[in-house]
Amino acid sequence: MSHSGRLYVISGPSGAGKGTVIRQVLKKHPDIMLSVSATTRPLRPGERNGIDYQFVSVPEFIGMRDRGEFLESAEVYGNYYGTPRGPVDSALRAGRDVLLELDIQGAASVKRAKPDAVLVFIEPPSLDDLHDRIRGRGTEDPDALFKRLEAAYEEVRSKGTYDHIVVNDEVERAADELARIIESSR
Ligand code: ADP
Ligand code: 5GP
Repeated sequence: MSHSGRLYVISGPSGAGKGTVIRQVLKKHPDIMLSVSATTRPLRPGERNGIDYQFVSVPEFIGMRDRGEFLESAEVYGNYYGTPRGPVDSALRAGRDVLLELDIQGAASVKRAKPDAVLVFIEPPSLDDLHDRIRGRGTEDPDALFKRLEAAYEEVRSKGTYDHIVVNDEVERAADELARIIESSR
């Protein structure tokens, strides 16, 4: 009998450093699959279609959703995001662990659908740090920046529903902590 892989959901406010910490963990664990979501958000400079996200139009997204192609989907900061079901299920069946980077609605949906999923919340040391990090990334216009900061309060309030909370003070330290959570759940 082969073992199926485990599902990990990583959430946290925009700018907390989820992407940065996840990239660091994947360097150590190239066997882990990071799911590529579909989104209607415009592509940021430096992002690649099919690698960072599958960038789709709103009608394309709605078609995918209506055909049941998503494990979960949600509207986040005014755009649609969804996790394609097929690649996640085949990786898990093949025994690979899978990481999903999802907003708090997505995390709750996945926990309902797959109760043995491990939920990890990544938070910044403070909301001031969060502000500086989103600004420093330089990818959001003032309106999008405001939406993301406004949402951060509610997102941080939900952290009690997660299995683990990791404070992203230093990237290396936070990545080691996340890697240990994964190693110890195996
Ligand atoms: P998220 O995926 O949560 O939206 P990113 O990984 O894009 O966040 O990180 C947001 C910004 O903060 C990036 O410019 C990144 O380089 C920076 N950053 C990430 N982690 C840290 C950290 N521990 N200390 C300082 N800056 C960080
Ligand atoms: P960003 O636009 O900064 O890449 O992501 C915005 C938010 O959407 C983040 O909280 C991210 O975790 C979340 N997100 C990314 N992909 C998905 C997805 O497939 N489903 C859900 N529910 N949230 C997602």
